[in-house]
Amino acid sequence: MARTGNKNVQAKLVLLGDMGAGKTSLVLRFVKGQFYEFQESTIGAAFFTQVLSLNEGTIKFDIWDTAGQERYHSLAPMYYRGAAAAVVVYDITSMDSFVRGKKWVRELQRQGNPNLVTVLVANKADLEAKRQVENEVGEQYAKDNRLMFLETSAKTAQNVNELFYEIGEKEIGKS
Ligand code: GDP
Ligand code: MG
Repeated sequence: MARTGNKNVQAKLVLLGDMGAGKTSLVLRFVKGQFYEFQESTIGAAFFTQVLSLNEGTIKFDIWDTAGQERYHSLAPMYYRGAAAAVVVYDITSMDSFVRGKKWVRELQRQGNPNLVTVLVANKADLEAKRQVENEVGEQYAKDNRLMFLETSAKTAQNVNELFYEIGEKEIGKS
């Protein structure tokens, strides 16, 4: 099918969530198509860009991958300022990470930006045997808080491209 769209959109996207939930791994899966079993911890924040082609045109993501934010009581303004989308990641094998993910959602809600596309991502879906957070629990929370919800695996690539495509489609639709 021919791509007829000629929009060119840029969108800032910020990743939040507990240390070890898989934020960096999701970005590296998306940007490089790879997975690292022994991913080194991110220090501070890392920055990536990636362009996606969609039906309506192209979107260039500026991706801010945060780390260590849990030390601060609130999100540093530089992360959410001008952000079009926020992705809150938890690890399905850790109830703690889900609890902390919900804290990030509340923190984002406090910023009071109704245009921020927020996605709750339940990562490490390949580790079904170690699951602590049922799919329905994450999904219901997302529904109650009007968030998009996806279960992903940076390891198997399950739903990783879908995550960025869905955000991209929403974003380009706004323009
Ligand atoms: P971050 O602190 O949120 O950036 O988490 P990392 O991306 O550094 O990942 C923490 C650890 O979890 C690393 O050892 C990764 O290899 C591993 N990991 C990340 N995503 C997945 C996943 O989807 N499945 C599995 N099995 N391991 C993952
Ligand atoms: Mg990281």
